[in-house]
Parts: sequence; C-alpha cells; structure tokens
Amino acid sequence: MIQEWDIKPLAKSCTGCTKAFEDRQEYYTRLSDQSGNYQRSDFCSTCWAREEPVDPGYSNWNGVFRIPPAEPDRKVRKETTETILRELMEQGDPSRGEIIYILAVMLERQRVLVEQKVEDRPDGARRVIYAHRKTGETFIVPDPGIGAERLETVQQEVMHLLAPDAPPRPGSIAEPPANPPPEPTDGLGS
Ligand SMILES: [Zn+2]
Repeated sequence: MIQEWDIKPLAKSCTGCTKAFEDRQEYYTRLSDQSGNYQRSDFCSTCWAREEPVDPGYSNWNGVFRIPPAEPDRKVRKETTETILRELMEQGDPSRGEIIYILAVMLERQRVLVEQKVEDRPDGARRVIYAHRKTGETFIVPDPGIGAERLETVQQEVMHLLAPDAPPRPGSIAEPPANPPPEPTDGLGS
C-alpha cells in the first residue's frame, strides 16, 4: 500500500542518543523509504556523523531546531493556504488530491514549504516530499498529474476554498465565461 498524504513532525530529541534538541541546535533529518512508507529520523550532528556513512537514507537534509517549535495556531480560525492544506491532508479524502497538490505548490511558491525530493515510482506514481521551513515537518504529497484541461477547474476550486465569501462569478461553471477570469495572483498555470 503506497502511503498517501502525510505530515511527519520534527522530533524533539535525537533518534541516536535520545538527547533533547536545544534551541538553535543543528539537526539532521533522514527519510527512509520502507516499501513505499517513509520513516523519519532526526539526529544531532554527532550521531549523524556516525549514521550518514552507514545509512544516508532515501533523502536527507538539515535544519536548525528552535524552541518553542513554531506550531500552527489552531485557536485562531484563519483560513490560510496552510491551514486548509493541513485540514485536507488530515481528512485524506482521495477526491481532494488535486486540490491538496495545488495548495502544496502554492505554499512552495510562498516559500513556506521547501521541495526536498520528487519521487517517481516504477508504477508511474509520483510523490513530492516537502520540508516545512519553520516547523521542520515533512509533508508527503502525491502528484495527481493534473492535465492542462483540468488545471483551471482545480484552480477555481482552490480559489473558492481560499476565499469562500467572494461572490460567485456570473455564468455556470460548465460553460466558459465570456471574459476569461483574472489570473490567480499566485501565477499557477504558466
Ligand atoms: Zn544524538
């Protein structure tokens, strides 16, 4: 079973020596691929120097640990791109796969997520692995392969999620509007 959307948090202590990370300490993350499922481990520099030659993992990167870890403020109901992406990933509804992917791409352009690796599996499936710049979380997002003919529809659904109070555009969705809608500010579709 291929793993679908997932968010893996940065550990609070080193996987090797179990010492808690200190503020501003450099950490090293290793992602291992275990028959389609990712295992995340975080190490201090001492343990990583020992681990890397033995098992560099499927993908690895390093960052700086911050205390307190920046966590999304769940008390404030603010519909941001990131909040919506997290909610949809938690729900894990396969019919939302295209929207999840577009939201992740938007967050990458907003420099919230950093692409770590694009994985092409032998069966043609593709997954993108992102690191969250602030929290150090790993975001695993399957690429649904949105065709050019679907892109505008998906983008409109995304814009509606981001601005649900915006008045609906005149005309039905089935027929193209007389005037093309303005390009989304994020510049998708190029
Ligand atoms: Zn360690």
